[in-house]
Amino acid sequence: MLSIDRNLQEVYSNIEKAAQKAGRDKKDIKLLGVTKTVDMKTIEEAIDLGLADLGENRVQEMLPKIEQLGDRASFHMIGHLQTNKVRDIIDKVSLIHSLDRLSLAKEIDKRARQDDMIAHVLLQVNISEEKTKHGLKYEDVIPFIEEIIKYKNIKIKGLMTMAPHIEDEKIIRENFIALRELGEKIDSKNYENFEYEYLSMGMTNDYEIAIEEGANIVRVGRAIFGERNY
Ligand SMILES: *Cc1c(COP(=O)(O)O)cnc(C)c1O
Repeated sequence: MLSIDRNLQEVYSNIEKAAQKAGRDKKDIKLLGVTKTVDMKTIEEAIDLGLADLGENRVQEMLPKIEQLGDRASFHMIGHLQTNKVRDIIDKVSLIHSLDRLSLAKEIDKRARQDDMIAHVLLQVNISEEKTKHGLKYEDVIPFIEEIIKYKNIKIKGLMTMAPHIEDEKIIRENFIALRELGEKIDSKNYENFEYEYLSMGMTNDYEIAIEEGANIVRVGRAIFGERNY
C-alpha cells in the first residue's frame, strides 16, 4: 500500500543525512513534491503532512490543482513551458524553473509587466547536452543572462538542471558540480537581473547526490507518490 506519510518521512530523513554528510543545514533545503499525474486526494494528504511546495510540468494539469488548493501550497512550474501558456500561470506560480529560450523570456517579461509584478525564474541548463532534454547549453547561459537584462520584469533566482538518466553516479555528480560552479561564476559577475538564491537539482534517483553538491531545491516525485502510471 502506498503510504505518503512513510515515504515523506523517508525522503526527509534522506535529505537530512545527505545534508549532514555535506555539513549543511537541512533547513536550507526545500523539498518540492512533484505531483504530475497525482490525484487531488493524495496531494491534499501530502499537504496535510507538511509538504508546502509542489512542482508540475504541464500547465493544463497544474491549473485545476491551483484552483482547488489555492494558497495551501506554493506552485512551481518545472516543465517545458509553451509561450502561449505563460499568461495562464504567470501570477499563480512562485517560481518558473524552466526558462530556456529568448522567446519565452520575452513573453514572461511582457505578461509580468502587464500584471505589474516581477517574475521569478530559474534558467534550465542542459549540462549533459542530451538531445532529448530542454535547456540552455552551458556556454550559452552567460550570454543569455546578458541578453535578457533588458527585460526588467524578470528576476533570475538561480539555475536548474536534470541529470542524465544513467546509473553512473560519478557522471551525475559531475553534472551537479558543473551547475553549482556555473552559478557561482555568474554570481561573481553581479548582474542586476541575477539574484542567486536557488540551485534546483536532484530527483528521486539522485536527490541525495544533488544535496551533497549544493542543491537547495530537490524535485521529488516517485519517492513520495510512487511510480506514475501515465
Ligand atoms: C517528473 C519530474 C521530476 C520528478 O521526477 P521523479 O523521478 O519522479 O522524482 C523532477 N523534475 C522534473 C523537471 C520532472 O519533470
